[in-house]
Amino acid sequence: MITRIGTVAEMRIVSESYRNQGKRIGFVPTMGALHEGHLSLVRIARERTDAVVVSVFVNPLQFGKGEDFDRYPRNLERDAALLERCGTDILFCPREEDMYAVGHCTYIDVERLSSVLEGEHRPGHFRGVTTVVAQLFNIVRPHVAVFGQKDAQQAVIIRQMIRDLHYDIEMIVAPIVREADGLAMSSRNAYLAPSERTAALSISRGLRKAEEMYRTGEKDAQVLARTVEREILSERDMRIDYVAVVNPETLVEVTIASGAMIAVAARVGNTRLIDNTLLGQESAEK
Ligand code: AMP
Repeated sequence: MITRIGTVAEMRIVSESYRNQGKRIGFVPTMGALHEGHLSLVRIARERTDAVVVSVFVNPLQFGKGEDFDRYPRNLERDAALLERCGTDILFCPREEDMYAVGHCTYIDVERLSSVLEGEHRPGHFRGVTTVVAQLFNIVRPHVAVFGQKDAQQAVIIRQMIRDLHYDIEMIVAPIVREADGLAMSSRNAYLAPSERTAALSISRGLRKAEEMYRTGEKDAQVLARTVEREILSERDMRIDYVAVVNPETLVEVTIASGAMIAVAARVGNTRLIDNTLLGQESAEK
């Protein structure tokens, strides 16, 4: 049976009790509207630890003005049922007034890594992410935390935060889970009208084309980026925020694509989608 916890105080007590019993705690932070991508992280936590905590918190601090905080999909009953089925012990849904109590004024800012790519297009976004994840780490006190490669920059930034703030947490980054047609799973896919969803497939198609060119010898980052861009823009309704070929650890743009990551952000209608691929890494998810 899954146990639902709605307060910070209760979460602390339960976490402390797991630790006193010598249990290792696995943690998966989410914003809910769960899909197979999220559940894959939960399964990894399940395999590696004794008690699995999943948080669902739509964090206002990581949404910019005019972004989709108000309309972000919320379906806690469905989420709880899915989580129970894959062996979650605790569903932690903190209240906004606990996470950001009146007078809250402490923020975590991972400089440099937060200012590029998504950071350029969503100012303040990562400050919101790292501030809430730091709080959640302090409350849940996990031994292992699992994040998705889908949000590659977020994973790099949190890894840096763990290092810089000396969190004693093992971080695992799990591969991107895709729909059968290649679209990276995302809670935001629910916004897509059928024609938009078809157009959005150009993102993963472009990445696959670039991967194939890379495999067959093309190592020029610019050529690969242009290939992805052309594929995306072959769909009339798509708009590109960026296609960047970067070092997957430093996020610095590279000219030679060996071992690099291609990161994409694009918009269709009012929906903004991100995706990426690590060049030269074969995985079952691709
Ligand atoms: P979110 O609910 O969007 O904040 O995502 C919560 C966690 O799930 C993050 O670590 C994401 O990177 C991860 N995640 C989201 N979509 C996917 C996906 N398609 N494959 C793997 N992980 C994902």
